Amino acid sequence: MKELSKIALAIQPSTTLAIDSMFKQMKAEGQDVVGFGAGEPDFPTPDYIKEAGIEAIRNNDTKYTPSVGTVEVRKAVCQRLKEDCGIEYQPAEIAVSNGAKTCVYASLRALVNPGDEVILPAPYWVSYIELIQMVGGVPVVVNASEAEHFKITPEKLSAAITPKTKCMILNNPSNPTGMMYDRQELEAIAKVCVEKDIYVISDEIYYRLAYDGREFTSLAAISPEIKERTLIVNGVSKSYAMTGWRIGYVAAPAPIAKVIGNYLGHCTGNPCTISQKASAVALSASQESVDQMKAAFEERRNYMVERMNQIEGVSCIKPEGAFYVMMNISKLVGKELFGHVIKDADDFGNLFLKYGKVAVVPGTGFGAPDFVRWSYATSMENIKEGLDRLEKFLKGEAV
Ligand code: PMP
Ligand code: GLU
Repeated sequence: MKELSKIALAIQPSTTLAIDSMFKQMKAEGQDVVGFGAGEPDFPTPDYIKEAGIEAIRNNDTKYTPSVGTVEVRKAVCQRLKEDCGIEYQPAEIAVSNGAKTCVYASLRALVNPGDEVILPAPYWVSYIELIQMVGGVPVVVNASEAEHFKITPEKLSAAITPKTKCMILNNPSNPTGMMYDRQELEAIAKVCVEKDIYVISDEIYYRLAYDGREFTSLAAISPEIKERTLIVNGVSKSYAMTGWRIGYVAAPAPIAKVIGNYLGHCTGNPCTISQKASAVALSASQESVDQMKAAFEERRNYMVERMNQIEGVSCIKPEGAFYVMMNISKLVGKELFGHVIKDADDFGNLFLKYGKVAVVPGTGFGAPDFVRWSYATSMENIKEGLDRLEKFLKGEAV
């Protein structure tokens, strides 16, 4: 038989989803395991949003819609972007699709020719690197260290740009680091992108989760020149605990949004009609529930960071947004635990799951091999238990 597609064969499975399914399987087998894997809010979708979905079914809102979503949901997106980020978009500049993941893919599809370079700051969310390769792009990884708070500088960005560079992917606040670029930092990055004329896919899906009273700035809000080159990706998954409803959106200049729409028209058709109805309500009703969830995440972050830094052998910097902590394990590399010398984050993750009964995501898939990612989108009880287990595990005591 003939060989499968080389591009498809090169795709690696998603580490975040793989850890999550391993954790769920262990749980189903009755094992006492605590999960900090997939970044998914543990709260249920708020009732008024669920009701809007139920109502949509009752009202027979169960048919095809435009591929880029109904005018109703795109207007609701425009309203949110205006209120929360101070930027003006028209419905013709919005494409709604099946989760932010599809939106990143469709955006790359609209921008990238085979062989074009795409700048990717590391640590990066695991799916970006695969998605770039899936469209035939060449990822150019630019490392940002923990000492730099995992943020790339304009100098590093500038040095990575070549005549082949088409765009960069910026994730703010970041998965997996939780760090945020402030307005000044964004201005400096925007200046480079405008001067060198590159596009930016700005994934702002965690924008509502900014802590310590920090104000979020959207890249597109910096200047009209950068707005012209920015494709904002966002969605309802994280802000409204709606991961399973699969609604994300891209906001981009109309000619780019149109190309994305053409692409979606052939490959996905419209996103789920019922989910669009529920999302329109999520985006346009009172935003109180978002703030309640945010307050709970902030409290968990504070506890996790403080405890982690009291534990011998590991450390972390304090994330400013999203719901992830990057634990530095570099002091453990080369040390022996449970008869095994730890070589990297993969080793640590496997041993911690086997002997500590805790699932975390190794940083290897994020371009950060000295780190493991903990998601604190889980109960305080689980967080306490997970850190108790970490303490025991590092003393060589199995759970
Ligand atoms: N971007 C980032 C940075 C994410 O962490 C996620 C989480 N899955 C996504 C995009 C995709 O979100 P969605 O569930 O809307 O596809
Ligand atoms: N984005 C979340 C994470 O990083 C969900 C899993 C995924 O889609 O990768 O864990």
